[in-house]
Amino acid sequence: MAEEKFDVIIVGGGITGCVAAYLLAQAEMEVLVVERAEEAGQKAVTGGRMYGHAMEKIFPGFGEEAPVERKIVRERISFLAEETATTLEYDDEEMRKPEKASYSILRGNLDPWLTEKAEEAGAMFIHGIRVDKVLTDDKGKAIGVLAGEEEMYADCVLLADGVNSLLAQQLGLKKELEPKQVAVGVKEVIQFSEEEINKRFGVKDGEGLAWLFAGDVTNGAVGGGFLYTDKDSVSIGIVETIEEIGYGGLAPRDMVERLKNHPSVRDYLTGGELVEYSAHLVTEGGYDMIPQLYGDGVIVAGDAAALVMNLGFTIRGMDLCAESARLAAETIIAAKEKGDYSKASLSLYEKKLNDSFIVKDMKHYRKMPAFIDNHRIFEQYPGMMEEIMKGLWLVDGGEKEKFFKTAMGAVKKVGIFKLFGDVRKAMGAL
Ligand SMILES: Cc1cc2nc3c(=O)[nH]c(=O)nc-3n(C[C@H](O)[C@H](O)[C@H](O)COP(=O)(O)OP(=O)(O)OC[C@H]3O[C@@H](n4cnc5c(N)ncnc54)[C@H](O)[C@@H]3O)c2cc1C
Repeated sequence: MAEEKFDVIIVGGGITGCVAAYLLAQAEMEVLVVERAEEAGQKAVTGGRMYGHAMEKIFPGFGEEAPVERKIVRERISFLAEETATTLEYDDEEMRKPEKASYSILRGNLDPWLTEKAEEAGAMFIHGIRVDKVLTDDKGKAIGVLAGEEEMYADCVLLADGVNSLLAQQLGLKKELEPKQVAVGVKEVIQFSEEEINKRFGVKDGEGLAWLFAGDVTNGAVGGGFLYTDKDSVSIGIVETIEEIGYGGLAPRDMVERLKNHPSVRDYLTGGELVEYSAHLVTEGGYDMIPQLYGDGVIVAGDAAALVMNLGFTIRGMDLCAESARLAAETIIAAKEKGDYSKASLSLYEKKLNDSFIVKDMKHYRKMPAFIDNHRIFEQYPGMMEEIMKGLWLVDGGEKEKFFKTAMGAVKKVGIFKLFGDVRKAMGAL
């Protein structure tokens, strides 16, 4: 093995690594993927809903062939106060169209399928070994990796090692993550029968719901909750910025309990069996967090390149990582044709990213992380909504106050100017 040289070594066999491996192997390149988990998907965590468009480009018919859970046809977002939920729900026929579809997925099912696709195309995988170092020559060009005791060589190294890419840091491409830029996600998978999911959530076979939560779930800390219906399970969890841990006095694992026991959620979950518990980091910084994306003989893609958008009403990482893997593969194929893996040659990757929906969308939502980093959204607005809704719908035979007065009373508690300022910021961020 020490003498063998590959065209490309990919570090990380998640979505990014597998997609790139598949495309590079299809182009008849010698590809090795080194994944630290013993089995595909074992260390991977997502919420997760995947928008299908990027995968459809790579695997036409992805929605039918891949082991996705359910097509998401209903959006729901709730502001939770202690005992109430103010909820916005959205149904759209267009979500059923293949080019606009999104799917709930479980990485324990999807990653093995992707690995198999890449292997069938000719890529080689080693599971169960961690890459500790990218090997460089005396000019600093990446020439391979050190994994366990083994040195393995390649013309190009693709870093697809996820959010905390220590290897990109070692090469000076990326700075250490700051507590504000990254969140911890904690997730449970709770199993039911397929029929039970259909019945409880009012959905048809193969169709499902994406439900996001803000407010009481984090007890005021910057973060939120999510719930996705899988085929025969529910994925439920929370995300909290690392900087916020301790704020509001709840540990992340307690937030999941709080969400599960909230009156608007608990009846959906009674009687289910907990079959998976996981935690993982997730990038929160948006466009301004994108690191140096390439160097001599090296490219960074997917979460390792911070290509994630947490927008509050949805989170997108998986479609960005699939697209970045495709663009990285195209760049490496072009480099092989030229016989040039220098930094200048690999800069094509950045050009491709800049022209793609990834950078365009991330730039579009650039102000979102700063907008979301606002305690009023999590501490005060859910209570304000609660007060306004109570004024509309609670009837106890007592004298009703004019609705305008109730609503203004609720708004004044937050502050009219603060509210207008936040609405203006939200419009600017969207
Ligand atoms: C709680 C949570 C909820 C999320 N929800 C959503 C969602 O609903 N929709 C969405 O689109 N995105 C969501 N995301 C983001 C999405 O999961 C990521 O963008 C996506 O998983 C990134 O894929 P990746 O292949 O780049 O990285 P990963 O999936 O992290 O894969 C990296 C792989 O590299 C391996 N690895 C790491 N270091 C080494 C090493 N040194 N040597 C060998 N192997 C290594 C790891 O074991 C791992 O398998 C969520 C993330 C979290 C944590």
